Amino acid sequence: MSERVIPLIDQRLGSLAARVPTTAIPATGLLGDTLGRPLRDLRISVTDRCNFRCSYCMPKSIFDKDYPYLPHSALLSFEEITRLARQFVAHGVQKIRLTGGEPLLRKNLEILIGQLATLRTVDGQPLDITLTTNGSLLERKAQALKAAGLQRVTVSLDGLDDAVFRAMNDVDFPVAEVLRGIEAAQAAGLGPIKVNMVVKRGTNEHEILPMARHFKGSGIVLRFIEYMDVGATNGWRMDEVLPSAEVVRRIHQELPLVQLDPSAPGETAERWGYADGSGEIGVISSVTQAFCGECNRARLTTEGQLYLCLFAAQGHDLRALVRGQASDPELASAIAAIWQGRNDRYSELRASLPPDAATGTRRAEMSYIGG
Ligand code: SAM
Ligand code: SF4
Ligand code: SF4
Repeated sequence: MSERVIPLIDQRLGSLAARVPTTAIPATGLLGDTLGRPLRDLRISVTDRCNFRCSYCMPKSIFDKDYPYLPHSALLSFEEITRLARQFVAHGVQKIRLTGGEPLLRKNLEILIGQLATLRTVDGQPLDITLTTNGSLLERKAQALKAAGLQRVTVSLDGLDDAVFRAMNDVDFPVAEVLRGIEAAQAAGLGPIKVNMVVKRGTNEHEILPMARHFKGSGIVLRFIEYMDVGATNGWRMDEVLPSAEVVRRIHQELPLVQLDPSAPGETAERWGYADGSGEIGVISSVTQAFCGECNRARLTTEGQLYLCLFAAQGHDLRALVRGQASDPELASAIAAIWQGRNDRYSELRASLPPDAATGTRRAEMSYIGG
């Protein structure tokens, strides 16, 4: 008798059934969760695959050739994504970010962008459609993405030194190609461009100042992200987190900074401007300064699971509804009921929670739920 091999590492954890409530919840754009937080920002993961192996996200030891990535039949089609996105928008979403995995690996992504670009907010405005990418395929794709209706991009870049960058992506990818991708995005009008740098103490902290100098005056906003304890595979340790306050202090010593007002409610980055008026930087302090109080973000995974927090261990299965008999108003009601029950605020609670190992909690991977 042949045995079925069950993979030990499976990111498709703890799915909750999404139910259509017996009383319909109309989409008014005014939905709030248990803490009164609105739903404004939807992050859609379009693939769980990536051509990089950043150690803080998809370490090679786990994400190897035997890793059980999702089969194509499990992925939401572009039509299914757009249908779901339309219901989120009716509940107040104004901004959609495509992510992954590496979103530019998803074939014909321009078609999805074109479909999403036809959606309108409850006030009749076009959506703010953006994409987070590692930049490796951007030089080739920037023009087509813009033509399809993408407004801007955020590029992840963890250093300018080629050796440091190659080590961080762990597939020996040269930094020059990402820099050319950023230039191509600028030339295509995919701005204002943001560049995200995850700072790991002892690994790339010496790249903070070269990165700041490089992007100062370029019109590109460089944002420093604290290394987070997301997922269950990156071996996160608090002593590898360099607090944002320290990043600001180091830059300010050489390039004086002044604090700026937040650009929008729920904005994750704290903004700092160069005192000489030559642009701004941002810091995202998810570990040292929780910002759950205004968190208005929902995440839709590649296979249609709705996650209410980056650190959630369970998603709500919307794909079953989409592939079942649910009508659009039923889908909208189901999404509303889930958001109305939301009480997630992991970053605020982090310090007081028992370790995951003690409770048996397995958090979803960043490459699965989308950053
Ligand atoms: N592959 C694309 C990219 O790298 O831009 C999009 C997906 S990636 C998961 C989204 C963002 O999450 C990237 O900016 C990445 O640097 C960030 N990220 C991944 N793991 C992280 C971690 N442990 N702590 C902080 N940021 C992380
Ligand atoms: Fe890939 Fe982005 Fe994760 Fe790096 S951070 S491994 S580029 S998904
Ligand atoms: Fe939002 Fe969860 Fe992050 Fe808090 S920890 S800001 S609720 S995603």
